[in-house]
Amino acid sequence: MTAAPTLLWFRQDLRLTDNPALTAAVAAGRPLIPVFVLDDADAGHWATGGAARWWLHHSLEALAEAMGTRGGSLVLRRGPASEVIGRLVEETGAAAVFWNRRYEPWATRRDAEIKADLKRRGVEARSFNSALLCEPWQIETRTGGPYKVFTPFWKALRAAVETATPTPPPERLPTPARMPTGDALADWALTPRGPDWAGGLRAAWLPGENAALRRLDGFLDEAVLDYARKRDLPAEPATSRLSPHLHFGELGPRQAWHAALSRHEPGRTDKFLSELAWREFAHHLLHHFPDLPDRPLRPEFAGFPWVDDPQGLRAWQQGRTGYPIVDAGLRELWQTGWMHNRVRMIVASFLIKDLLIPWQAGEAWFWDTLVDADLANNAASWQWVAGCGADAAPFFRVFNPSLQGVKFDPDGAYVRRWVPELARLPAAAIHSPWAARPLDLADAGIRLGRDYPGPIVDHAAARDRALAAFKALRKD
Ligand code: FAD
Repeated sequence: MTAAPTLLWFRQDLRLTDNPALTAAVAAGRPLIPVFVLDDADAGHWATGGAARWWLHHSLEALAEAMGTRGGSLVLRRGPASEVIGRLVEETGAAAVFWNRRYEPWATRRDAEIKADLKRRGVEARSFNSALLCEPWQIETRTGGPYKVFTPFWKALRAAVETATPTPPPERLPTPARMPTGDALADWALTPRGPDWAGGLRAAWLPGENAALRRLDGFLDEAVLDYARKRDLPAEPATSRLSPHLHFGELGPRQAWHAALSRHEPGRTDKFLSELAWREFAHHLLHHFPDLPDRPLRPEFAGFPWVDDPQGLRAWQQGRTGYPIVDAGLRELWQTGWMHNRVRMIVASFLIKDLLIPWQAGEAWFWDTLVDADLANNAASWQWVAGCGADAAPFFRVFNPSLQGVKFDPDGAYVRRWVPELARLPAAAIHSPWAARPLDLADAGIRLGRDYPGPIVDHAAARDRALAAFKALRKD
């Protein structure tokens, strides 16, 4: 092929199925140069975190392999995307650059500049939606503004979603006579070396499009039908675990939506679809309120009397707070790069309300340790728990970590798995070991304060302190 090529710029859309930019690029009929640019230049303190970098490495590997079987290859370049893309256009004489949109404020600003620059040079530049059911600006209230409450947003979204049968991957990728050179993936050092802390991630996950499609398929076989009943039980494999696949675009939400509706009777998968809608809501909020990751949506929270408590933060990060369900969640996160949603809410509430540590500190820890770390979902969820976001849980609703454990992990299976030193405690004591009978502790081989920490705060006192802080804020 000798015609001027199309550059296909992969970003968070690491798949070949139902990828609108890829479909359009193949339809354009020119040779295709697929490229991925490692560029955190404009992301500031939201540069890709450690666990997500591990995922990215393996996802790129899987994408390159899938392309190889279709006669194509993936060019890897690193540096500020505006420079890298501009240089590649010059090098290859590309006539067009196609990509799927991202929604981080720094990415939208950068992409708009790149698009304008390409157009100035007479290069066709087109962007598509691969990551969302609807664009964040497409859903509007009756007065033309953004939604701040989920239920009406969900209603409007549901009426607007149109999903066609997903487009299959192209059988062959049209390649140019000469592909530009690129970096070796290993040289990007996305996976940890000294030390290699990714063993738990490797055991828990298989990144890549094929694994994503298999996971969706397996979830829709059965679990989805019990999802509404069991999704809050962290010991059960009851949720889809699609979040990292969705974040990296190995699977699009429209594929998940379409598959759920085509495989089951209407209404049977509604709860699952509404969770996909929370993801949309978070992106809607990030689009309209670009400060969402850093500043409370409710401005009065800017003056909240947070406590500077590095020791408390460390105990929380390490899963050593003395509250078993909190510690189990943070250890699951550290080992696997993921945490169950119910437990995310419990640990977030504990950090914010029991320890009075700013929600941004928890958000930053999640950012570095989650394989599904997502700017919109993470920020919206932390603000939701902190009570300072849109449609948030009110601040004065403080989770009691022991009662949450009893309710959602009644036999303690989740705690036993992630806090093995408590495994032999009877179910009645497992969520409050400090109140266990000395005999039960001795039988289970636990010396509190040595084998497992005593509670770092007294929950009842911590709750009163949080409510007093909140009251003071409201008076100001
Ligand atoms: P499922 O229950 O199977 O849900 C299906 C999909 O819907 C998920 O994969 C996810 O994409 C989306 N979803 C579900 N719940 C939410 C939600 N509350 N908000 C937005 N999207 C949702 N999710 C992330 O993807 N990235 C994050 O960085 C993130 N940080 C969070 C931080 C806190 C403090 C809390 C409370 C929640 C956070 N979530 C985040 C939302 C949620 O916990 C995860 O999406 C979910 O646990 C992923 O597991 P799953 O794929 O099995 O979800």
